[in-house]
Amino acid sequence: MRHSLLFFLLLALTPKISAQEPLKTQLAPCGTLGISDWLKESRFRQPVQDRSGDTMWVAIKTHLLAKDNGIGRISIEKYLDSFCQLNEDFSDTDIQFFMKDGWNLLNESDWHVHNTIPEGIDMMLTNNVPDALNAYFVADPAGNCGYNLPYAGVAIAHGCSGDNDHTWAHEVGHALNLPHPFIGWEGKLYNFNTPTPTVLTYDYTYFHDTLDTQVPAPLDTALVELVDGSNCAIAADRICDTPPDYLSYRWECDAENKSLLKQKDPTGAEFYSDGTLFMSYALDQCQNRFSPEEINIMRATLLTERLNWVAPGITQEPVTDNPVAIEPVQDQIVPVNGAVLRWNAVPNATHYLVQASRFASFSFKQLDIVTTDTFAIAGQLAPNLKYYWRIRPFNNRHTCAPFSALSSFKTSQVSPTTEPDAEGWRCYPSILAPDQPLTIQIPEDWKGHEIRCQIYDAAGRLVWQQKQEWSDQTNSLQLPSGQWSAGVYLLTCTGKTGSKTERLTVDGGR
Ligand SMILES: [Zn+2]
Repeated sequence: MRHSLLFFLLLALTPKISAQEPLKTQLAPCGTLGISDWLKESRFRQPVQDRSGDTMWVAIKTHLLAKDNGIGRISIEKYLDSFCQLNEDFSDTDIQFFMKDGWNLLNESDWHVHNTIPEGIDMMLTNNVPDALNAYFVADPAGNCGYNLPYAGVAIAHGCSGDNDHTWAHEVGHALNLPHPFIGWEGKLYNFNTPTPTVLTYDYTYFHDTLDTQVPAPLDTALVELVDGSNCAIAADRICDTPPDYLSYRWECDAENKSLLKQKDPTGAEFYSDGTLFMSYALDQCQNRFSPEEINIMRATLLTERLNWVAPGITQEPVTDNPVAIEPVQDQIVPVNGAVLRWNAVPNATHYLVQASRFASFSFKQLDIVTTDTFAIAGQLAPNLKYYWRIRPFNNRHTCAPFSALSSFKTSQVSPTTEPDAEGWRCYPSILAPDQPLTIQIPEDWKGHEIRCQIYDAAGRLVWQQKQEWSDQTNSLQLPSGQWSAGVYLLTCTGKTGSKTERLTVDGGR
């Protein structure tokens, strides 16, 4: 684990919280160190031929970690927000990312919270898929918001993901050969009142280009970058359009996105750090760009050593439309168990995130699933309650579409209180609100045969009947009970092996 001194100070000042998952303020910004051989050598190579303007589509394989018991995974909603933010952060680079075969769910407590980088190495080398940038979403990546291992993949903390968080873009920047603009200062606290050194050393034990932690002296040196730009190609990140920056802890910026803290270079020239760079440690609200030279380096990386991440021939179009709920809507009454939610198909969407909640804020969700269909079946809900539900469409490249407008439904007043009888018959609720569906469970051997159901009023008159073959054991009967007067009715259903009779009360009818 690597922390700056300031991080420890911040940690000491942060109130203790009971949740196990660390918050952003409790994590170091990034664990990545070092500069790649590729970048060092790129200064001596011919520039890579790049047809700028063509969008490069890069494969990402995401692994979403939970504890051994499956608890503690990032919500899919937050993950989709993170993926959307990643592509938005890269929109000026003409590099965009797509999910290679969706995401991978892993349950492993020792990876979900890993205290050391070697545990993260183990996680990645065990689960990586080829020909993709592998990204791991965990609760705690060794005390950092994230880190990048050049030979393995990136890790991101749940607390440093979601919309308006640029940690994923920062770590992908590392994976595409970008160092920190303040390289060499990691773990050191800049002090204006002491002379600024001309050279810094740093430990990059786990951050070589290859998995080789056996190097006897895992130290490298970085020249400190000067304000006049005279050593920019050989100092710090060796990138000339990222100005000097010595701040290796989370820092605030002013209205121009410059650091509040003034620094001076080894010659005494004063400056403020540029907080707009994703590769800096400025707060997220300061960050909004990669520099032009950084973009060139990332694209050249993809055209050379990471060409296997780039997928040709992209045809999947963006998802821009909002889905519309078809049923249930406007407080329609649904059965307590097995309610069916339907919506219209959205152009270019291949998947839908469906949520239902007791609360319009969706602060707690009774249903939170991903489907490729345009319907979902809710499990067991509580009776006689209002629920809200919504749908969010996406595909493997585009996850920025918002949720649909809220729809609502109500669960039926009475849940089945009796078990099915010996033959498997059950009918509920016995008290019906007007037009509330009736749920009928038939004996197993009635399935696949014609079933006749009739309803008689208290005077013995037939008011409704239906003859139909039922293929499922549980069916919903939509009775026109809203047109009936309130009172008691008799239901009889006749199937292959006999008849069943139930007394129903229509409550609040005409
Ligand atoms: Zn970093």
